[in-house]
Amino acid sequence: MTYFYLDRFQQAEFFAEKVNELPLAPNNLLVKKRANEALSLVAGKRGQFDKAYQYQVVANALSLQILNEQKVKENAYQMARFDSVEKNRENTSLIQDHELLMQQKDLFMKEKSSSIMFSTLLVGVSVGLLLLLISAWMQRNQFMKQAQCDGLTGIFNRRTGQELAENEFIEAQTAREPFCVLLMDLDLFKNINDQFGHATGDWALKKFTAVIAALLRPNDIFTRMGGEEFAIFMPKIDKLSAMEFAERIRIEVSQINTRYSGHEFTITVSGGVSYANKDDLSLDPLIQRADLALYRAKHNGRNCVVCYDNSFAPHTPSDPA
Ligand code: GH3
Ligand code: MG
Ligand code: MG
Repeated sequence: MTYFYLDRFQQAEFFAEKVNELPLAPNNLLVKKRANEALSLVAGKRGQFDKAYQYQVVANALSLQILNEQKVKENAYQMARFDSVEKNRENTSLIQDHELLMQQKDLFMKEKSSSIMFSTLLVGVSVGLLLLLISAWMQRNQFMKQAQCDGLTGIFNRRTGQELAENEFIEAQTAREPFCVLLMDLDLFKNINDQFGHATGDWALKKFTAVIAALLRPNDIFTRMGGEEFAIFMPKIDKLSAMEFAERIRIEVSQINTRYSGHEFTITVSGGVSYANKDDLSLDPLIQRADLALYRAKHNGRNCVVCYDNSFAPHTPSDPA
């Protein structure tokens, strides 16, 4: 165009044609358009108006193409912008989703931790209550045992032993089963206390109890009647077996090794056995008869067992034994 305005038309035409030979790529459109305009001007100056017109048509076509290219670019730009806005929007929504998720997670963790706290509290309270119940139950058992048992020997005291025995006796009488009572009294026990002291006396009482406890049957009710006097209430045993058992006890007691008490002495026991008659309505008469038999055992020289029989009450009209 510069050559053209300098009226150097040949050079203008030369360079314009060179440019016009460039391929029809998008980058070349503008220069090719301007080259065609220059060629049109040159042709116009030379009076070649047909040619000038054709160059102008080509330049216009190129202009149109450039315009289209621009539109395409603009559309692409708009699309890209739209894409970017859309992506931003998606990002924002993703971020919001993420925040929501985090909040939900936080809430879940809080709920979980508070539920764990609640469970722990519940378990703690339950365990506490359970321990309280167990200790109350154990205390109750201990009190009951204290109320029912003798403090020194651990066997039933008189009240409990007799109460249990009374029930067993009634059951035995109802079922017409035998029932025997063995009353025992340690011989000359006062002498043991006097010679070796009360503690040794206590030791002897405990040892005596332990030796007998090992010989008992499950149903036997071993009772400390008071002092050095004991009873075994024996359901479902006839008088012969009861006597054999009493004799066995007597022998075992006489063989107690007292060396571990710190003293050497002999423990002996006297026993009186009685058995239930069909006319007996309670345990009392049996205890009374066993007591009479025991008294006779003492009278016979101690360390022996006597069974109550007809010889005790010659005036008694009938005795099934
Ligand atoms: P017997 O053969 O006639 O039964 O003579 P005994 O000496 O055994 O009878 P007595 O009734 O004269 O004496 C019983 C003694 O038992 C007196 C009492 O101090 C003693 N005694 C009673 N209970 C206990 C106790 O729990 N511990 C001790 N160490 N002695 C006791
Ligand atoms: Mg005695
Ligand atoms: Mg006595």
